[in-house]
Amino acid sequence: MAFLPILEAWPRERVLERLHAASADDVRRCLHTEHLRMEDMLRLFSPAATDLLEDMARRAHGEHLRHFGRTVTFFTPLYMSDHCTNQCRYCGFNARNRQRRHHLSVEEVAREAEAIAQSGLSHVLLLTGDARHLSSPTYIAGAAGAVRSCMASVCVEVYAMTREEYALLFAHGVDGMTIFQETYNRELYGRLHPAGPKRDFVFRLEAPGRAAAAGMRSIGIGALLGLDDWRCDAFYTALHAHWLQSAWPAVECSVSVPRLRPSSSHFTDIHPVTDRDIVQYISALRCFMPRLGITLSTRESAKLRDNLLPLGVSRMSAGVSTAVGTRASGHSGDGQFQIADTRSVRELSDDLARMGYQAVLKDWEEPGPPLPRIPQEDRDVQRA
Ligand code: SF4
Repeated sequence: MAFLPILEAWPRERVLERLHAASADDVRRCLHTEHLRMEDMLRLFSPAATDLLEDMARRAHGEHLRHFGRTVTFFTPLYMSDHCTNQCRYCGFNARNRQRRHHLSVEEVAREAEAIAQSGLSHVLLLTGDARHLSSPTYIAGAAGAVRSCMASVCVEVYAMTREEYALLFAHGVDGMTIFQETYNRELYGRLHPAGPKRDFVFRLEAPGRAAAAGMRSIGIGALLGLDDWRCDAFYTALHAHWLQSAWPAVECSVSVPRLRPSSSHFTDIHPVTDRDIVQYISALRCFMPRLGITLSTRESAKLRDNLLPLGVSRMSAGVSTAVGTRASGHSGDGQFQIADTRSVRELSDDLARMGYQAVLKDWEEPGPPLPRIPQEDRDVQRA
């Protein structure tokens, strides 16, 4: 199974043409349709829908309450290494950036995880740059194994891997992965990634499918908003998520909606994405895929995160550091990007509680050994 043919069936010119052809009446009709199709998704992302944001937000809020209630699951990133061989033009870890870099040993990763656990969090996302000679699949698997004792769920956000490599991680307790395509505009992708293994657009595009095939329980995807016209990348992300959810119904699929943040890359070629655009993106996604996980990171301010929550956000990062080894290993650094919501886990939980929302610190753990079989004589007694 491959996503590329699905992507190629929606050329960018056709997507742009449909986005700009949609009328307010088209959007109104979508908002009164129960099961939305991809064409409807385009209408909800269209400029015409901006005048109907309140109606869309109301429907999104209703769908969200029906499927998630007033809960939001917390997770936190754990940066293990900022060494990277890629030259993504928008990233502070870009290989051309002259900065002091850190690579944690497996023991240091375990100590960082223990420090995270003390804040009450139990879902962790392990991150590395793309430097296989240092952060090999075996290293990542070893780190995952080392943090399992204090974390209920261990996911990774690392370079694109083969199915066999994802299977190795899965066997060492990694239950989910996140990978951002950054932009689905293939020509732009080539310009933004001038060197390094990440240049391979298709290998990255098909990584979520390979991870699902390797057994991962949860898969997160997303585009980095601001690299291209956000409406196009939002549509393609929804198309990708819809394909994943259809191809692997048992996998918990989620979409992140990150906006470009200032970083030491000093990248300036940014397509503007306003707060209202983010409202439209989240509301449209929730209307289109009511069961989809929607993740909001600390790239957004505390005020905006609180306001976006009721529209459909089901997962939030909390207690975040985007630098390597700052929690227990005594390192300091610039981090991958600047965060905007600096609340502690406790402060965030308290603020959400005041809004009537419950912070969920643990919603999953690895299943234990199978239940013991009921002896035959006990089964006979139960039947009688
Ligand atoms: S985005 Fe990832 S792959 Fe690209 S330079 Fe940054 S850390 Fe490396």
